[in-house]
Order: sequence, then structure tokens, then C-alpha cells
Amino acid sequence: MEETRELAIFRGDDDPSLVAAALACRTCLSGDVDWALDVDDFDGQVECRCRNCGYVRTVSLTSEQTLRLSLQRE
Ligand SMILES: [Zn+2]
Repeated sequence: MEETRELAIFRGDDDPSLVAAALACRTCLSGDVDWALDVDDFDGQVECRCRNCGYVRTVSLTSEQTLRLSLQRE
């Protein structure tokens, strides 16, 4: 089952709430999402797992977005 890769929709200098919204669950729209950053040489991707409904999706990131998420990691 091939899944179409999504592109994240935030900029590197966006507000944290916009970054969180970009990673929110697209099924139940919950912002309560566990995410794991996977960094490649040039860009990266983030796997988002919804704590509410369990939906998992992988979102492609530009290098700028990857850097932003690596800085935001708790
Ligand atoms: Zn969900």
C-alpha cells in the first residue's frame, strides 16, 4: 500500500502554534500528536502518531523545516 507523501506546511520561522497545527492529526484534527524526526543528509521527514485516534502519517520536510523541528524537540 503506497502512501502519498505529504509536504509539511510551515516555514522555518513560523510561530510554534503554526508548526504544531501543521503536524496535527488530519483524521480527527487533534493536536495531541507524538512525532519522531528522521533526518537525512539534506532534508528529512517526520512521523506523526496521533495520541487520540492512533492515526500515523509521514510528512516530508524541507531542510529548513527539519532544522526547525530539531530545535523545537522537547
Ligand atoms: Zn487523530
